[in-house]
Amino acid sequence: MANIRFQALKETFNRKPIKFKEKGKHSENFGKNVFNYTAMQQMMTKAAFKSVQDAITYGKKIDRTVADQVASAMKDWALSKGATHYTHWFQPLTGTTAEKHDAFFEPIANGAALEKFAGAQLVQQEPDASSFPNGGIRNTFEARGYTAWDPTSPAFIYGTTLCIPTIFVAYTGESLDYKTPLLKALQQVDTAATAVCNYFDKNVSKVISTLGWEQEYFLIDDAFAKSRPDILLTGRTLLGHAPAKGQQLDDHYFGSISDRVLSYMRELETECMYLGIPVKTRHNEVAPNQFELAPVFEETNLAVDHNSLLMDVMEKIARRHHFKLLLHEKPFKGINGSGKHNNWSLATNTGVNLLSPGGTPMQNLQFLTFFINTIKAVNDNEALLRSAIASAGNDHRLGANEAPPAIISVFIGSQLTKVLEALKNVSKGKLSPEEKTDLKLNVVGKIPDVLLDNTDRNRTSPFAFTGNKFEFRAVGSQANCANPMTVLNTVVAKQLFEFKKDVDALIAKDNLKKDEAVFNILREYIKASERILFEGNGYGEAWEKEAKKRGLSNNKTTPIALQAKISKEAIALFESMDIMTEVESRARYEIEIEEYMMRIQIEGRVLGDLARNHIVPVAVRYQSELIQNAIGLKELFGADYKTIAKEQLALIKAISDEITAVKSKSKAMLEARKKANKKQDPTKRAVAYCDTVKPYLDDIRSHCDMLEMMVDDEIWPLAKYREMLFTR
Ligand code: ADP
Ligand code: MG
Repeated sequence: MANIRFQALKETFNRKPIKFKEKGKHSENFGKNVFNYTAMQQMMTKAAFKSVQDAITYGKKIDRTVADQVASAMKDWALSKGATHYTHWFQPLTGTTAEKHDAFFEPIANGAALEKFAGAQLVQQEPDASSFPNGGIRNTFEARGYTAWDPTSPAFIYGTTLCIPTIFVAYTGESLDYKTPLLKALQQVDTAATAVCNYFDKNVSKVISTLGWEQEYFLIDDAFAKSRPDILLTGRTLLGHAPAKGQQLDDHYFGSISDRVLSYMRELETECMYLGIPVKTRHNEVAPNQFELAPVFEETNLAVDHNSLLMDVMEKIARRHHFKLLLHEKPFKGINGSGKHNNWSLATNTGVNLLSPGGTPMQNLQFLTFFINTIKAVNDNEALLRSAIASAGNDHRLGANEAPPAIISVFIGSQLTKVLEALKNVSKGKLSPEEKTDLKLNVVGKIPDVLLDNTDRNRTSPFAFTGNKFEFRAVGSQANCANPMTVLNTVVAKQLFEFKKDVDALIAKDNLKKDEAVFNILREYIKASERILFEGNGYGEAWEKEAKKRGLSNNKTTPIALQAKISKEAIALFESMDIMTEVESRARYEIEIEEYMMRIQIEGRVLGDLARNHIVPVAVRYQSELIQNAIGLKELFGADYKTIAKEQLALIKAISDEITAVKSKSKAMLEARKKANKKQDPTKRAVAYCDTVKPYLDDIRSHCDMLEMMVDDEIWPLAKYREMLFTR
C-alpha cells in the first residue's frame, strides 16, 4: 500500500470549503428546535404550562395527569417538526452523552399504527444500564438503573429525535450521572444564597447559579487523523517532532479564520441556534489550528447540558467538513493545550448579579458578602476544587507553564485587594458613626470603579475575578462542566449557610446591627482566607515555593489530586449538604481513578504498537538504504570510503542507537504495565501507571521523534506536525 501519509497529503491539497447555506437570521432560528416556554405555551393548556413553570422555578412535583398532557404536547410539537423518535438524553460518568432511541410509532389492532408518547414514557425510562460505569455500586447483572425527566432543562430535537434531558440513577437510589448531584448542589446554593440576600433585600426569593463556558478546540484535516492511530485511539499525538514554526510568532491568535474553518463554524453556529445554545463569540486561539467558541452565559444546569450537547454537535459537523475535532487537553506536544474556562456567578430573581458591584453602598456590601464568601469557600476547599478538574489529559496542562498551575489560588486585582485590606481593619464589635461613614464613603461606596479597571487581568490564575464573575480557568477542554460546577456550588452553598449562622449569632450575642455583624464576620473571613489570594505569576517556581509555605496543595497528577474526593472532609461535606452519600462519593472516585489508569494504559499500548509497527520498520528500511549506499561507496573508493561516507556511517549508527532505545524501552514499558496490572487496589494501580508507565511515554517518544528527524521524509508514515497544524 502506498504511504498513507502521502495519500492524506494529496487529499488535503484538493480540499475546498464545504458549501453551507445559512437559513435566515440567527435570531429567527434561535430555539426553533427547543420545547421552550414559547412552544409550551402554544401547545399546552394554561394549567399544564403553569405546572411545568412551577417545577422549573420552584422544583415542584408534576403529577401524572399533567405529565401525560406535557408528553402529548411534546409529541405533537416534535412530530410537527419531523421527529420520528424520542430518547432520554443523559450524561453517564463516561464523560459523553448517552441516548437510546425509541420510535413514537406503535402498531395497534388490525394492522394499523399510531404515534404514541405518554406521561409514563416522558417521566421515566429504563435503559440497559449495565454497561455504564458505576464504580461498583451496582452488581451489573442484577440491579437496574432508570432515567428520570429533568423539567428544568427543555427537551430539544436533534436530527429527527426528540431528546429529553434526564437524570440517571440506580434503583437503589444512587446517582450514576453528572446531573443528579449538580441539581442538588444548585438547589442548595439557591437556598443558602437566598437567605443571605434577604439580609439586603427582602424581595429576593430565588438565586440561580450562572455559567458561561469558553470551549477551546483544535481542528485538523481528517485525512491526517486517519494516518495516525494515536489520534484516532487516544485523541492526541503520542509522537511527532515539533515543526520548524510553532506558535512563537503568535500570528494565529485573533488572526483571520480560513474559509474551510469559517464554513465549519457557520454551520456549527446555525445548528447551535436551532438547539437554543446561545453561542456568540468565535475566534482563533493561540496555537495554530486552535479555536474557541463561547456562548452567552445561562443558568448552570442548562449551560452544562448545552456544553455536553455542543461537544457532540461539534464532532458530527466536523466530520461533514472533513475535519477531525480534537477536544483533548493536549493534542500536540510543545503547542498550547485546550481548556474550558468556567465563568461563574450567582443571580437573583430580581435581576441582580451578586458578583457585580452595584450603585449603592448596600448593594456593594451584598456584593462583598458574596465575593468574600466565595473566596473563603475556595480557600477552605482548594484541594477539592483541584480534584474536580483532574484528568489524565488535564495533567498535561496544569503546571506546564501554559495553563494555570496545579495550585489553586484566587486573583482579584489590585483595586479589590485594597478594598479587602481596608475591610480587614474594621473595628471589632460595634462601629462608631465615624467609622460607618468612612466605610460607606471610602470603601463600600467606591467599588464600581473596579469595573473600569480591565487592565490587571492575570492569565496565570486558575480562579480569577473578572469584574462581575469568577472565572475557573483550570477546567479541561474535554471535561463535563458538571463536575467542577457541582463542587463549586456546593462549597459556596456550604459557606453561605455558615455565614448566615455566624452573622445571626453575632447579632444575637453582641446585639449588633445587621451591617455591623456582616462587617465583623467578613473581616474574620478575609483574615482566614489570605493564603489563597495571589496576584503574581502563577507559572513561576517562586510561586510553588510560596504556595507550599502557605500550606496550599500542589497536586500535580490525577491519582494524587483525586484523593481529595474521598477525604473525610469531602465525604462529610457532600453528605451534610445532601448531595452525595459516602457510597456515591467513593463510587465517583473509583470511576475516575480507573478511567485515569485506562487512559494511560491505552496510550502505552498505542505507543508501543506505533513504535514497533510503524517507526522501527521505516527506520530499518531507511537504514538499509544507507547501508547499500555505504557499500557502494566502498566498492568505488576502497579504503577511502570511510572519509567519504562519514555522514552515512554516523547516521547508520545513530539510527541503530535510536532503534535499540525504542525497542528496549518499549519492552520495559510493557513490563511496567504488567507489574502495574497485578495491583488489585485501583488506587495503587493508578499510581503505578502514573509513576512507572507514564514516564516511558515521553521517553519512547523522544527517540521516535529523533528518528523522524533522521529518516527520509518520503517514507515517513505518520502525518507530521507541520502538516497537521498548518494545512487549512
Ligand atoms: P474573555 O474571558 O475571553 O475575555 P468575556 O469576559 O467576554 O471573555 O466572557 C467570557 C464568558 O463569561 C462568556 O461566555 C460570558 O457569557 C461569561 N459571563 C459573563 N457574565 C457572566 C455571569 N454573570 N455569569 C456567568 N458567566 C458570565
Ligand atoms: Mg476567559
